[in-house]
Amino acid sequence: MQFDAELLLLAMAPVFLACIGWEAWHLRRTRPGESIYSWRDTFCNAALALMQQAADKLAWLANMPVYAFFYARYRIHTWQAGWGWASFVVLFVAQDLLYYVFHRCSHRVRWLWAAHVVHHSSARMNFATAFRQSLMYVVAGMWLFSIPLAVLGFPPTQIVAIVLINLGFQFFVHTQAIGKLGWLEYVFNTPSTHRVHHARDNRYIDRNYAGVLVIWDRLFGSYVDEHPHDAPVYGTVEPLHTNNPLKATFHEWASMAADFASVRGWRNKLRALFAPPAWATDCHARRAARPVAPGAT
Ligand SMILES: [Zn+2]
Ligand SMILES: [Zn+2]
Repeated sequence: MQFDAELLLLAMAPVFLACIGWEAWHLRRTRPGESIYSWRDTFCNAALALMQQAADKLAWLANMPVYAFFYARYRIHTWQAGWGWASFVVLFVAQDLLYYVFHRCSHRVRWLWAAHVVHHSSARMNFATAFRQSLMYVVAGMWLFSIPLAVLGFPPTQIVAIVLINLGFQFFVHTQAIGKLGWLEYVFNTPSTHRVHHARDNRYIDRNYAGVLVIWDRLFGSYVDEHPHDAPVYGTVEPLHTNNPLKATFHEWASMAADFASVRGWRNKLRALFAPPAWATDCHARRAARPVAPGAT
């Protein structure tokens, strides 16, 4: 198996666009009046994808030497050169587990949430939502979660390839046009599983972190089934209300910096950076409810 991984997502672009066209057409016929797509939202998604792809190229340039360092110095196994089926399966499963850990941390640690929130900040859910990515993942430290793959003996080019394969798969779970998929629901992340992940309803929040395999959610207790009748409400607990890709990218970083500056004591400052995002929501709610001092303007 030999291919240029960096071109994978580019090569898949026509398939992605065809899926978006089909879904928009299909949903307009089957669910008229629901406006599951909007031009502004879709353009924002596309802009975010382009920004993230550009940043990603630079990020790989910076990260590859790190992986090469760990591969050269600390690998615990040497696989046969090139792609073999056994090594591919180990790499695929290990990376998918690491993605699950990264994704779960991204919802529980504000520093990582500041980048990941972009993906959740639309109140819509369609194939184009998959394009909502953040150029700040490299700053947040997403790349750290792939270092164990180098230690397991996988060279940097294969690490890049498997990360992109995982990301490419995830495009297909962002849709409201596909229902439950039978036994596949027990093994793979599916549209139904991932719709739950994008919902902000209480019973769905912080659930279903799967990349490709849903077995991690089922093993580690983060799985919840999509309710057969109640449609999920999509978006974040603190809605963004903008289609500006720059605001979408930086709003949580700005909010985090403001909280860090305004709270008192180092414990609270650390909470502003690393506590679960709900800490910030509570903090903002308390601040909004605080009575204004007489004479204050
Ligand atoms: Zn998420
Ligand atoms: Zn998603």
